[in-house]
Amino acid sequence: MTLTRTQVRDLLDRHGIHPKRSLGQNFVVEPNTVRRIAELAGVGAGDRVVEIGPGVGSLTLALADTGASVTAVEIDDVLVGVLAETTAGRNVEVVHADAMTVDWGAVLGGAGDADWTLVANLPYNVSVPLVCDLLDDVPAITRMVVMVQKEVAERLVAGPGDDAYGLPSVKVAYHAVGRMVGRVPPSVFLPRPNVDSALVEVVRRPEPAVDADPARLFTLVRAGFGQRRKMVRRSLAGLLDETAIVAAGVDPTERAERLGLAQWAALAGVPAPTGSGGES
Ligand code: SAM
Repeated sequence: MTLTRTQVRDLLDRHGIHPKRSLGQNFVVEPNTVRRIAELAGVGAGDRVVEIGPGVGSLTLALADTGASVTAVEIDDVLVGVLAETTAGRNVEVVHADAMTVDWGAVLGGAGDADWTLVANLPYNVSVPLVCDLLDDVPAITRMVVMVQKEVAERLVAGPGDDAYGLPSVKVAYHAVGRMVGRVPPSVFLPRPNVDSALVEVVRRPEPAVDADPARLFTLVRAGFGQRRKMVRRSLAGLLDETAIVAAGVDPTERAERLGLAQWAALAGVPAPTGSGGES
């Protein structure tokens, strides 16, 4: 059981809700879409699912229908009230919190012994930092199936040389294997957004893909993509000198947008000149 367009409209009307653009409130009103996402997530009885931004509960109900237990984190207090109504009697715990700042250890039980799958139609304005921060800080989330803006999806799964390749792509590749698993048209949302959406699956690796100090690695990646079209001998100046870049086996005239994870790791492995930064 999930929510139809008419039911979502009715809920919004009865609760006097005007979707907030600032919170990326575009609600899915097409039952087949949320069922498809739940299916792609491959979750079922006994699985633990965390959802960020349940909205009025369309995807939440489809996830609960699989038999999984669902923990749903919603920032908007009015929607938390609606969720109490739509998820009543279901295996759903609603947490009223900002997913960007919430204590994930407390939300997910703290023990760290359970595998969680994140399944969410993410708020567009925080989707990239959310995915990156959860990969960095919440190892209990071992899989993600997330709906994001198509351009964001491309950034998450891009490789060296792709236009969309950047820090989020390196972050995903470092922690996980990411792939695009579907496209979603604007017509399934209320209100209808001006952009296409896509579904991305991110499966965490047992260990990061390369052996490198992550703080140093991502300091270099951030600096490199800060000036992505410059040669690394320029964009990394102050962090690595040209001799160190050559010692890492990287051509100093190469650009950040063409370096793969192994090359970033090699750069992170050569000693930094005294006084260069190492924080992430
Ligand atoms: N899951 C619902 C659906 O598919 O219909 C709603 C998705 S809507 C794109 C994004 C949701 O995220 C909204 O309910 C919004 O209030 C919520 N949200 C926005 N920022 C948030 C944050 N920082 N923490 C938790 N929820 C947030």
